[in-house]
Amino acid sequence: MTAQPTLFEGSKRLAYDEAVEFTVASMQAYGPLHDHWAIAWSGGKDSTATLTLIVHLIDVGRIAPPKSLTVFYADTRQELPPLYISATRIMAQLAARGIHCEVVRAPLDKRFLVYILGRGVPPPNNNTLRWCTRQIKIDPMADALEARLASIDGQVLMITGVREGESAVRDQRITMSCGTNGAECGQGWYQKLLPEAKGIRGRLATLAPILHWRVCNVWDWLRIYAPMEEYGGWESAAVADAYGGDEAEEINARTGCAGCPLASKDLALDTILRAPQWAYLAPLKGLKPLYRELREPKNRLRQPGGEKRKDGSLVKNQQRQGPLTFDARMMALNRILTIQDEVNVAAVAQGRPLIDLLNAEEESRIRELIAAKTWPNGWDGDEPNADMPMDSVYADGTVQPLLM
Ligand code: SF4
Repeated sequence: MTAQPTLFEGSKRLAYDEAVEFTVASMQAYGPLHDHWAIAWSGGKDSTATLTLIVHLIDVGRIAPPKSLTVFYADTRQELPPLYISATRIMAQLAARGIHCEVVRAPLDKRFLVYILGRGVPPPNNNTLRWCTRQIKIDPMADALEARLASIDGQVLMITGVREGESAVRDQRITMSCGTNGAECGQGWYQKLLPEAKGIRGRLATLAPILHWRVCNVWDWLRIYAPMEEYGGWESAAVADAYGGDEAEEINARTGCAGCPLASKDLALDTILRAPQWAYLAPLKGLKPLYRELREPKNRLRQPGGEKRKDGSLVKNQQRQGPLTFDARMMALNRILTIQDEVNVAAVAQGRPLIDLLNAEEESRIRELIAAKTWPNGWDGDEPNADMPMDSVYADGTVQPLLM
């Protein structure tokens, strides 16, 4: 008799069927413990695979349905357009099945571009603790869940598309992945931080039913099985195509926001642009250099030195660079609108979907915040430009005069 393969056995690749069976087993074990389920869906490949598979398994009776199922679609407003377009199609399919899908967005003033251009906070980099991930992904999801929890009794089982592959499962290693190959920005955060978020602590159990899936399992589901009628007829092939069609498995690009300033390369966007039908999105390549440029001293203010804490002691990081000047914000706003126009002119000419990097409400709010001379907390706009030569002030208060 041959031994049954297990998740913890060697580094043998899990076949697709085995991967699905483990998912069914985990849903059968943990699903019935909770009346209410929620699915956190980013529109990326892993969470789309999770969502469509779970709904299919309920449809065909492989797992018992919960009393309620709510899908939370995390719309960062920074999605790569092909993924966003696929998500809207899948949302229509969910609605046709009577499944409620709530679109979760950050409040207007906290959205990525409104926060940067309206409030003047520089685009994130690797030193800024990725304020964006928390602000446009985690906090809005926590707020939406808190509101949902307020309307029901008991715990909610939060189903996520966190995926680490079989070796990570074997090693019991779950990382806070934001930049690892093939990961969606913030996915590990969903698993680790959400359950601890204020307002939902103790009322959320998270389950990652495809934690053990390898990327090839994901592609098989999205491209081959899920689109077939007997598996639900999902519009999921377009999600896989957005990652590079036939080459998707090899490329295994990390996804995140269009032009994410933290990713070293625009891998996912580059892949998308190689597909003739998406080539009209090429002007989006201008976003990442723009975000980098905005962090340059010429576009920012700087504390002049002598900055103190409330207790009167000197702050450590004297003469730190700060927010974006109004000129820089207007320059960036105009460039982003130009990028959007260029894409949309081509979209109209080619009969392709339009994009909105900034919708009318966001653009008008940015202009309003600039007109109201809005600065981040702790700044009043009187500070000098960061590229202005000045005396050096050190953390102990000593001053080295500017050498003329
Ligand atoms: S993908 Fe990049 S810009 Fe978007 S939330 Fe993640 S780190 Fe921030």
